[in-house]
Amino acid sequence: MAYYVGVDLGATNLRAAVGDDRANIVARAETATPRTSGIAITEAVLGVAREACARAGIDPADVTAAGVASIGPLDLAEGAIDSPANITDIGRVPLVGPLSELLDTDEVHLHNDTVAGVIGERFNSDRNPDDMAYVTISSGLGAGVCVDGHVLSGWDGNAGEVGHMVVDPDGAMSCGCGRDGHWEAYCSGNNIPEYAKHLARTEAADVATDLSLDDPDFSAVDVFEMHGSDPLADYVIDRVADWNVIGFTNLANAYAPLVVRVGGAVALNNPDLVLDPVREHLEETTFVNVPDVRLTEMGDDVVLRGALASAITGGTGDRTA
Ligand SMILES: [Zn+2]
Repeated sequence: MAYYVGVDLGATNLRAAVGDDRANIVARAETATPRTSGIAITEAVLGVAREACARAGIDPADVTAAGVASIGPLDLAEGAIDSPANITDIGRVPLVGPLSELLDTDEVHLHNDTVAGVIGERFNSDRNPDDMAYVTISSGLGAGVCVDGHVLSGWDGNAGEVGHMVVDPDGAMSCGCGRDGHWEAYCSGNNIPEYAKHLARTEAADVATDLSLDDPDFSAVDVFEMHGSDPLADYVIDRVADWNVIGFTNLANAYAPLVVRVGGAVALNNPDLVLDPVREHLEETTFVNVPDVRLTEMGDDVVLRGALASAITGGTGDRTA
């Protein structure tokens, strides 16, 4: 039996899984992502990989290949993360080299988390489609894209950063990246609270609300929880839907995916409020290709399963190869 390792390195959690060649997970391990140094993160990645192997009853050196899904930005040439955006001041985090050594294999594939997402969706879809996208709407917003059977990574591994496409030329909201008018600045979990406050000061100044806009803990969860009972919450959710329609339209027109699968906490927790408006409007907003837009069926596991699928398929998600 051949064994594979998948690693999901997030800003908060770090998970590893050992799977067989049909991507059945036989063991898992998990820890909090260290925030102290790059070396600490590398050590923690090796630690969860070792622990998952121990639980699977195999020697790490017997693993055939590994896939790593990581927060970015990536430096693919170096097999490392280069100063991760969500963890301050830790510099470079080597991943591919140390894992290759531990697992005694040259087959270690590094992707950003949304690219791993599309690999996992492709691998686990009935028809193993050549043209599909995976969109995550969580604290940030991004996509992984597969076109003509090629998983797009770009020269540095950061293709598909659709969250930083301009959707609002007036640029009312600033994005975490420092620029204005980006899709993510309106629709990601981290940015919806600021957008709600902006609307309450401007176009929705007359809309009644019981939302605690001034509470430092005010979050996107509060907005979605008040849907149907608070006029401002409804207003914000409608406006977020408007920007999501534009974002998904741009994605569909640029890449012509047959299917788009969506994950991330904001979508997973509010699938109808987030995805129904997109499905309703795409027919009239896309040029020719109207993709089938649906929630991922893998929940929180989509990125980890994508990393595992990458290990099994050599980074493509292609089951037929
Ligand atoms: Zn941006």
